[in-house]
Amino acid sequence: MSRLRSAMQRGKSVVLENTEVIKSSNKKKTKANIKQEDKTLSEPSSYHFFNDLPEISAYRFHLLQWYDQNKRELPWRTVATTEPDVNIRTYAVWVSEIMLQQTQVATVIDYYNKWMKRWPTVETLAAATLEEVNQMWAGLGYYSRGRRLHEGAKKVVSDLNKQMPRTTKELLKWLPGVGRYTAGAIGSIALGQVTGVVDGNVIRVLCRVRAIGADSTGPVVTEALWKIADTLVDTERPGDFNQAMMELGARVCTPKSPLCSQCPIQTHCNAFRKVSIKQEKDSKRLQSKLASKLNTSVPDIENCSAGGSCNLCLSEDWDSQMGVQNYPRKSVKKAPRVEKTLTCIVQHQRGEEVEYLLTQRPSKGLLAGMWELPSMVLESDLSENKHRGLLCIMMQRFLETSLDTDSFQFVGEVVHIFSHIHQTYIVFSVCVSDCSEKEQEQKTCWLTKSALQGAAVSTGLKKIMKLYESSSKVNSGDVKRKLSPGVGKEKQFNENKKRKVGADNGGPKQLRLSQFFSTSKPAGKTNSKDA
Ligand code: SF4
Ligand code: ZN
Repeated sequence: MSRLRSAMQRGKSVVLENTEVIKSSNKKKTKANIKQEDKTLSEPSSYHFFNDLPEISAYRFHLLQWYDQNKRELPWRTVATTEPDVNIRTYAVWVSEIMLQQTQVATVIDYYNKWMKRWPTVETLAAATLEEVNQMWAGLGYYSRGRRLHEGAKKVVSDLNKQMPRTTKELLKWLPGVGRYTAGAIGSIALGQVTGVVDGNVIRVLCRVRAIGADSTGPVVTEALWKIADTLVDTERPGDFNQAMMELGARVCTPKSPLCSQCPIQTHCNAFRKVSIKQEKDSKRLQSKLASKLNTSVPDIENCSAGGSCNLCLSEDWDSQMGVQNYPRKSVKKAPRVEKTLTCIVQHQRGEEVEYLLTQRPSKGLLAGMWELPSMVLESDLSENKHRGLLCIMMQRFLETSLDTDSFQFVGEVVHIFSHIHQTYIVFSVCVSDCSEKEQEQKTCWLTKSALQGAAVSTGLKKIMKLYESSSKVNSGDVKRKLSPGVGKEKQFNENKKRKVGADNGGPKQLRLSQFFSTSKPAGKTNSKDA
């Protein structure tokens, strides 16, 4: 009990601190801003916020008690609690937070351990090349994250004398790819800063706990959630509290099957209360009993007192089938853009080895700096012959040699889904005899099969090579014979049947190219313009 009491005392102090912060920041606001804010935040009733100090303290106590008994041992948590060097601690938590953006914990663990083994400090990461970083990141998806970690490390070394920023505000200011959530997470976990965090899991938990059913991606709900998170965060264990909120969202208050009966904060949850009351009301057996009870001892906690004017309440009707899953609500997601890309596997026999031509993507944008097969985005649907013609022109430009359109063989189609693009690669292959290097604006290199295994290539490229390998086997059963050199001389494959490799969203699976090739030869010479 004394622990609960002291937790309640702490609750009192954080609310006072927050009130002070709000008071001082209000001084600087214009009348118009204050009016707008009043409209936004005063309308929703206390039903959507935490105003009661004992309840705040009890919430913290229940959540942290659950976390202490149930938390998963994760490598970055160990570093955060055992690493005495604040610089290394902050760096380690930063790496973990960036990796955990859009990737599941189970997938991240391996990548994280390898990364920290190779680059244990911010200086070592800053000294790496982007190529090495991309290579380490290969298969984790959302490649710009690795690039930004690298950029941030270089900034810390060059502009901050190798010292990681020490506050949430400084983290936001200096580190690319670090937004409000990530700064709050690093600040609270590594630096003990008293700040709440709001990520996908926290959004779900708080929307349910405070029965917030308006569009959870909109600015009004977002601000309300940050306000609640800042009010609730424990002043003595902010990092643990924030991790507990996220862990609860990941393991108990899950999107599809929330485990309300095992939830440590069930008594604080408006969604749970609302569902329970509705169920009771619906029960004919208890109908009369409930009616009298509701009239006497149970306050009107089922609904928000602001009624129809509340901008945090459900904007759509309550669905009794969904129960607590009525929260949160999202606006309809934009459908991914549909794109078709013509791509070509260009191969060349160099002695005993077969080499493949790769080109490097620009240093900005999608898959920045990654190596890919020569490709072009198609503006419209074209015939197979037109595809050959286009590829022929592109490859003649790359190789500055004359090619025959008939030497381009259709291999098949590969579907790869990025977060916002539904990509279909239309794959052709060609063998060339001339692979001398030409001066190009776009960097190119020739890689052997074995060298490809270690290169920074995307999951999409790996799928293409897998299709190519299987198509080679189907067509001849003798891959090597098909790879004889020559320009437009021999058709490398018999008529390929069109095939599609469907692939769900590319996910964070790390595929090794060795799986895609039947021959295994030692790494050969890499003929690269970058070398
Ligand atoms: Fe989520 Fe249920 Fe817990 Fe409420 S009681 S926070 S809905 S798991
Ligand atoms: Zn409301």
